[in-house]
Amino acid sequence: MIQLTIRTTARVEMIDITDRVAAAVSESGVKNGFCRVFVPHTTAAVTINENADPDVPKDILAAMDRIVPLSAGYRHAEGNAAAHIKASLFGSSQTVLIENGRLVLGTWQSLFFCEFDGPRTRKALVKLTAC
Ligand code: ZN
Repeated sequence: MIQLTIRTTARVEMIDITDRVAAAVSESGVKNGFCRVFVPHTTAAVTINENADPDVPKDILAAMDRIVPLSAGYRHAEGNAAAHIKASLFGSSQTVLIENGRLVLGTWQSLFFCEFDGPRTRKALVKLTAC
């Protein structure tokens, strides 16, 4: 298992981790198989979307703030219920195929670590399966 340390700098943020995950795949020597990225946090997530236009992640975060407002009479006393809800909507893992030692992603796709309750120091775990 490979652990990536991710330092977030804002309350909500999408950080492109594609290059770091691709480097882990490359260093592993796995040529064909699966790459699983798991985020072991309850207020952060991982998703795949476009980063060719940096406005896309900004629009996603803005839309999430409209869909899940920061305060809306939530019961969770810690005050970060919106972050928990967003993390569940996005999910805690993604699987990407590995072919010829490279991640198989669409032209416009990137892997994003999604911070919903930052800034914090976070982890993303990467597990590779050759097959
Ligand atoms: Zn909480």
